[in-house]
Amino acid sequence: MRLDRLLGQHRHWSRRHVRLLLATGQVRVDGQEITDGTFEVLPQHCVEAQDECLQAGRPRHYLMLNKPAGLLSATSDPVHPTVMSLLPPALAQQLHIAGRLDRASTGLLILTNDGNWSRNLTSPTQRKPKTYRVRLAHPIHPDTARVFAQGIHFPFENITTLPAKLELLGEREARLTLYEGRYHQIKRMFGRFRNPVLALHRERMGELWLDDLAEGTYRPLTESEIASV
Ligand code: URA
Repeated sequence: MRLDRLLGQHRHWSRRHVRLLLATGQVRVDGQEITDGTFEVLPQHCVEAQDECLQAGRPRHYLMLNKPAGLLSATSDPVHPTVMSLLPPALAQQLHIAGRLDRASTGLLILTNDGNWSRNLTSPTQRKPKTYRVRLAHPIHPDTARVFAQGIHFPFENITTLPAKLELLGEREARLTLYEGRYHQIKRMFGRFRNPVLALHRERMGELWLDDLAEGTYRPLTESEIASV
């Protein structure tokens, strides 16, 4: 529901009074001053006006999940099973995914019902590092690290990828850190060297690192992990 409507319903405050409350910074959503009446209020939001609580909000959830291959990073899908099948349905229906992985990819997936928090984690302007372990079909070409560090031009979108860091772990294995997340970016970057990606495992998003969680399981983030975003 729109914030101005929610405020209007409360004690039948007039539209004029609602506009005044918004314009004078007396309305807070999750502790942040909001002046835009069109702001979309969700059930989990805590809404306060004139220091009164109008909506208490639902508890926030912040989860880390170790995604197995074969499950889609989506909240629902008519054909394929999704990562939500790993969670109790009552919890799953509240959550969204902060930064998807391809169906065949594995590793760190973050789920939450806090939209502002997940935007901070995934917004391209934040340039948070994302680290992946990559297994390739062929030996890694000696120019790969240099080319990735310079950026690669993708003619379809007419963009050049941000400098990425490649660390060799073996002849066909590397750790790659990106500061953005374009469509199938890693596969397309190695595609430039005609080197198909056989396996892709995300280890890190921002300061959040996947720990020794068993594949297919999840845990709540700690207070300091939540605060790091
Ligand atoms: N890049 C890819 O190609 N696939 C992913 O799942 C993530 C990044």
